[in-house]
Amino acid sequence: MFYTEDFDVIVIGGGHAGTEAALAAARMGVKTLLLTHNIETLGQMSCNPAIGGIGKGHLVKEIDALGGAMALAADRGGIQFRTLNASKGPAVRATRAQADRALYRASIRKMLENQPNLTLFQQSCEDLIVENDRACGVITQMGLKFRARTVVLTVGTFLGGVIHIGLENYQGGRAGDPPSNALANRLRALPFRVGRLKTGTPARLDARSLDFSKMQEQPGDDPLPVFSYMGRASDHPRQIPCYITHTNEQTHEIIRNNLHKSPMYAGVIEGIGPRYCPSIEDKIVRFADKTSHQIFVEPEGLNSIEVYPNGISTSLPFDVQWQLIRSINGFENAHIVRPGYAIEYDFFDPRDLKQSLETKFIQGLFFAGQINGTTGYEEAGAQGLIAGMNAALQVKEKPSWTPRRDEAYVGVLIDDLATMGTQEPYRMFTSRAEYRLLLREDNADLRLTTKGRELGLVGDLRWAAFNQKLEAIELERQRLRSHWVHPGHAAAESLNRHLKSAIVREHSLEELIRRPEMTYQQLMQIEDLGPGVSDPQAAEQVEIQIKYAGYIERQQEEIERTLRNENTVLPLEFDYSRISGLSNEVVAKLNAARPETIGKASRISGITPAAISLLLVYLKKQG
Ligand code: FAD
Repeated sequence: MFYTEDFDVIVIGGGHAGTEAALAAARMGVKTLLLTHNIETLGQMSCNPAIGGIGKGHLVKEIDALGGAMALAADRGGIQFRTLNASKGPAVRATRAQADRALYRASIRKMLENQPNLTLFQQSCEDLIVENDRACGVITQMGLKFRARTVVLTVGTFLGGVIHIGLENYQGGRAGDPPSNALANRLRALPFRVGRLKTGTPARLDARSLDFSKMQEQPGDDPLPVFSYMGRASDHPRQIPCYITHTNEQTHEIIRNNLHKSPMYAGVIEGIGPRYCPSIEDKIVRFADKTSHQIFVEPEGLNSIEVYPNGISTSLPFDVQWQLIRSINGFENAHIVRPGYAIEYDFFDPRDLKQSLETKFIQGLFFAGQINGTTGYEEAGAQGLIAGMNAALQVKEKPSWTPRRDEAYVGVLIDDLATMGTQEPYRMFTSRAEYRLLLREDNADLRLTTKGRELGLVGDLRWAAFNQKLEAIELERQRLRSHWVHPGHAAAESLNRHLKSAIVREHSLEELIRRPEMTYQQLMQIEDLGPGVSDPQAAEQVEIQIKYAGYIERQQEEIERTLRNENTVLPLEFDYSRISGLSNEVVAKLNAARPETIGKASRISGITPAAISLLLVYLKKQG
């Protein structure tokens, strides 16, 4: 039976990718259906209840700059906020929020329920309707057929999901949820390259059985960071601290003695796990000389007794989990509420995707999230937004859009996936971006909101707030350029001793801010010179733009140079070993791939910017 209405976009899966995809498509005005297993688990965090962190926080801000939901939900559900790398440069500063799982979910659900053009439906999707290599709809478990012009698949860890606890295993999409086996079988029959990956999660503990006095308290930051450009600290619920404890030699001994019972080490799991989020058994093996590993003891919510011991993800048998947890300081009497486990699942080689996240083999079918080989809510949400938006653009018969590597971390993420693929769960790091100085958390809106508005992703309220901020920055920068302080000036007398002695001629306020020993805030506290711009986001922008102007300009020039060289032709019959300075690995890769242009060469895995510079110098010499 066909459902009574047809849709423009059907999104399958109500996780982080699916919710952003459905919201993005609906914001753009196309008729959207979000079809998911269970309405109660919309926006569910499968693993740790936290949003952001280094690299990931950047993605959250970019989702927000394009009108997405994740940052707003983190602000409304966050119970401990921190700015990581606060003492380092702005490029690597990152916001992280510990979230109340239930509040976060409720916030996402509310946004979905209030979104015009969006219909929710609870059913498992079992099959795709494909006609002439084009996705035309889906079929649910009860045989109901939905017709659509495009389909976005975001089914996370559910395809052929197998849950492992010790040497026991059973089928599941994540603990408590069924796997998607019928859909997995259907997809395996299509021409996509399929692989297996695995990820894991620690046991959850009953807070009442833990001795927090033996742990180190870790409060959130003051002033409280905010995730969304539209958010305020007053949106946050009550704030509570996290705690820190450590594994010890006894814990490690227990793990070493039981490694043969780990499905990873017994060879039961074939999927590759996340290198940067290893299980505790992986850490003990890989870092054998370490006698202790840090554990962040994170509350699951304001009204929950459960805590998440971040750092001891494991798939060891339950009795071993019990022993190892009870060997830890503060956990001596711990009660395990839910055992830890690992999950293996199907993913699709993302090299079979276009940059728009549409599949190369089936038109109108888009993939986003964990099924593309990534790990993490933020990576999933960012892809979801781009896939949902491009599905809507296709419906509107408009060209697709994906930000470039120099425009956004989400551009880096998608470019890495689509050009290099991945052999292990891919997570974002600031080190993956070559233009880190430009791709900061603080300027994601300046980089993306105008484009988001043009695409129809950004609503009126956000657009008005953004323009107000732009104007405030511009006016303040003009004022700082044209306001002067001269020796003997009352304001100059108020400067710190070091600066005061450096004022030997007239200086604009902008010049003073450029000095390493002066901040915008300090300067604005001086009578006559302040109070400056009142919006803290605009104030931060003014300071960063002034202080880092030189570096930012240089990086912009580099981008322009790279873009200019994008189409520079490389001769097909070229012996790369003739170029001195290239490593054997680079020569082998270039000789094997024979890229047609510098742009294509630069996107081959392992071809560094330094190698590209050598190629360019060589080509120039050849004239
Ligand atoms: P999900 O959040 O998994 O959402 C998939 C959605 O699709 C669900 O709502 C599901 O019900 C729905 N669905 C599935 N099949 C169907 C179907 N056939 N029909 C209808 N609906 C369907 N990330 C980290 O960054 N670090 C970690 O350490 C980490 N550990 C993890 C441990 C475990 C055990 C699990 C399960 C996940 C872990 N993750 C971790 C990954 C993180 O949870 C995912 O990256 C993220 O949730 C992916 O988002 P997604 O939207 O792609 O998929």
